[in-house]
Amino acid sequence: MCADSSHLHQPLSVLHGVGPRLADRFARMQIRSVEDLLYTLPHRYEDRRQLRKIAHLREGCTEIFCGEILASAEVRTSRSGRAMWEVVVGDGSGTITLKWFHYRKAWQKKTYQVGRRALFRGEVKRFAGRREVLHPEADFLAPGQDVDDFTRADPLNFGRILPVYPLTDGLHQRTARKIWKEAVDRFAAQVKTHLPAEFLRKRSLPPLDIALRQVHWPDNDADLSALQRGDDPCRRALVYDEFFYLELGLLLRQKGISLEAGIPFRIEHRYTRPLAAMLPYRLTAAQKRVLGEIKRDLQRPHPMHRLVQGDVGSGKTVVALMAALLAIENETQVAVVAPTEILAEQHYRFFSHWLERLGLKTALLSGTQKPSDKQRCLERIAAGEVHLVVGTHAVLQEGVRFSRLGLGIVDEQHRFGVQQRQVLKQKGENPHILVMTATPIPRSLALTVYGDLALSVIDELPPGRKPVKTLMCGEKERERALILMKKAIQRGEQGYIVYPLVEESEKSDLKAATEAMEWLTGFFPDVRLALLHGRMKGPEKDAVMRDFAEGRTGILVATTVIEVGIDVPNATVMIVEHAERFGLAQLHQLRGRVGRGGKESVCVLIRSQKCSEDGLKRLQVMCETGDGFRIAEADLEIRGPGDFLGTRQSGVPDFRIANILRDGQVLEQARQDAMELVARDDFPDHPRYHELMQALAERWGGRLELASIG
Ligand code: ADP
Ligand code: MG
Repeated sequence: MCADSSHLHQPLSVLHGVGPRLADRFARMQIRSVEDLLYTLPHRYEDRRQLRKIAHLREGCTEIFCGEILASAEVRTSRSGRAMWEVVVGDGSGTITLKWFHYRKAWQKKTYQVGRRALFRGEVKRFAGRREVLHPEADFLAPGQDVDDFTRADPLNFGRILPVYPLTDGLHQRTARKIWKEAVDRFAAQVKTHLPAEFLRKRSLPPLDIALRQVHWPDNDADLSALQRGDDPCRRALVYDEFFYLELGLLLRQKGISLEAGIPFRIEHRYTRPLAAMLPYRLTAAQKRVLGEIKRDLQRPHPMHRLVQGDVGSGKTVVALMAALLAIENETQVAVVAPTEILAEQHYRFFSHWLERLGLKTALLSGTQKPSDKQRCLERIAAGEVHLVVGTHAVLQEGVRFSRLGLGIVDEQHRFGVQQRQVLKQKGENPHILVMTATPIPRSLALTVYGDLALSVIDELPPGRKPVKTLMCGEKERERALILMKKAIQRGEQGYIVYPLVEESEKSDLKAATEAMEWLTGFFPDVRLALLHGRMKGPEKDAVMRDFAEGRTGILVATTVIEVGIDVPNATVMIVEHAERFGLAQLHQLRGRVGRGGKESVCVLIRSQKCSEDGLKRLQVMCETGDGFRIAEADLEIRGPGDFLGTRQSGVPDFRIANILRDGQVLEQARQDAMELVARDDFPDHPRYHELMQALAERWGGRLELASIG
């Protein structure tokens, strides 16, 4: 990716057979250049090193075998009477049935004639005691043709470990393979590593060009199962290369940032001391420690870039409030950015409540404000009449100008990326940045994901917090859960009932929250229920949330829009329907909505009949622990890292090949090596690093603002 880029950046049309139509199909998969093609790896491999005898075909495997057609006819299934085409083939060792449910009769009849021989390929299954292959692929031999001659003549598709590429409508595996092969043959050699060779040696990794070639077209003696797992040295080399540049960029950026001039604060506790006296509780030791770390940053002449990580309910908001007051006593403004309107509204209520009592002004910027109100608001912010502004992305928009922005606070970081933090920075002269997240990523990973941020962890919950008792039950026991909730309501408490998303396409099999409202109203005749879902407009949602927060509604029936940050301490019961449909991390966030006051809280997870065994295991983990980190780990174990952490959301640049969780070990190595490099006396000025630095700049483009690095 960092070699003679002019060649690698060429469009696919330089490859044989790629015209506008095919190019268009590749573009649908975000493959536009030769380089994109090289870095889109096979998603699995097929073992076509040898044909198998029919007698030895393994069930559940995609197999390839040669046979002669012994019978071929249209038949009807015994049960539904549906037509299908059935072919029996044999090779002397045994026979197997091939079936088609979609076919054109005339073509089928002409093609699959008794006596013809072909190579067949497909997944072997068992049906009614017999082995069969549905919709196999077939390559016909000429009469009398030797099979070995045939396969030797088509080395692209037989006699080796074959890559299987991702496809899209109108792109077939054979075509794909041919195009990828040409790209690899002609261009892989141009991909050069600029990483110091000693690192590759130390990690026993092959050079990039060889790695690329092997990952697409493995040698026949390659370790197939390592390839399938994505754990062969060649793939690792590609991952290492990606991570190395990431780490190097982040390290340099960190250096660069700490060199930037910021606004050093003087800390006199003009507002924080009175606030502490007014708060109904004392800060926990962990909150104090984190606040101490923040104060130290704020007093430096360089901008703070700090991530505060704390499990749900650990009390991040009040720490942010303290930091905000420190900025305000230094005559600067504060911006608080939240991921949703509901959360922005909630933060607004919280911050304005305390700021007002200290004689300070707060404003809410929302996407749904009347233009005239918004204009007034913007003017007051620009004039410096407002001390603290809360809002969603709206705060980041161009029209928002501050008189003097001293601190930007971003809540629930996983929805924000590096770029947004950058925008926030540009709203002032290098303001301090504080990011808060409840995403329980292991520390080592957090350091990497947010490599440009210093990390503080609030690892203690406020005292008196009782763990949320978590129960699991089947749908038949729903009523008992509802009775639990009824009792809580009678005690003057409130509850949540959560459904998976109200989604048009899944309407049929989801008990959509809307429907449920009806019979819930029947079950709770004296209780005010309210519905909250993602398709509601901002003001509507806010009204519903406000009613609930202020106790006017007893039960909030909601889709996952309540997942982040909502804080209603009087809510003590949560019922989650179709609990198995939620990710564990998500369930943990959801559950964190109860147990926020001093009262006993309960969370009931209702699993549907369709709940799989893995699903059951995951729900059991929820019942056993309330520790976000343990839950995240268990989730990883059961589910695999695939969708645990969408890199797109986490603010990490998208990787082409690497997977931040699966490749954790390689990541750690790359980080160590990058650190070693950065620590060298001659880095980066020595000419031997020029190509590397150039490649780095190309990789990151403007994203890391390398220009600002001293
Ligand atoms: P999160 O870290 O999930 O954002 P919040 O900041 O919303 O958590 O705090 C959760 C709840 O804990 C709030 O109701 C808050 O008032 C309360 N809280 C925060 N700090 C303390 C503390 N030190 N002692 C008691 N309650 C606290
Ligand atoms: Mg929060």
